[in-house]
Amino acid sequence: MSDCLFCKIIDGKIPAKRLAESDAAIAIADITPQAPVHALVLPRKHVASLNDLTDADRRAIMPALYELADRLVAEKGLRETGYRTVINNGADGGQTVFHLHMHVLAGAKLNHGFGG
Ligand code: AMP
Ligand code: ZN
Repeated sequence: MSDCLFCKIIDGKIPAKRLAESDAAIAIADITPQAPVHALVLPRKHVASLNDLTDADRRAIMPALYELADRLVAEKGLRETGYRTVINNGADGGQTVFHLHMHVLAGAKLNHGFGG
């Protein structure tokens, strides 16, 4: 989608640190990291949010996000120490970029602050 920040990053029109890639997804470093490791796993296909996934998208995209997240944490040796995946959805969920993405946070003991 032409006016989408993450589509522009996927297309190489805006720079980002690319951490891992697959046919269906790419992982980039978050520009404002909230943990020593803070990656964003983006589907290459533009889907605004979880609300916008068709059933076919869901079956294709969600496993692809988890597969790339798993590869990333395995490469960084973070499986054993642990990590957190988060998808913010919609305004109350804290979503600010409307291209579906999974946060992957790791590298330190994360606090347990969920909720409002
Ligand atoms: P969310 O609030 O869940 O929509 O997450 C959006 C994330 O995108 C935030 O953690 C931002 O720090 C991150 N972000 C915004 N702009 C960029 C960018 N140009 N490159 C990498 N990450 C970004
Ligand atoms: Zn997009």
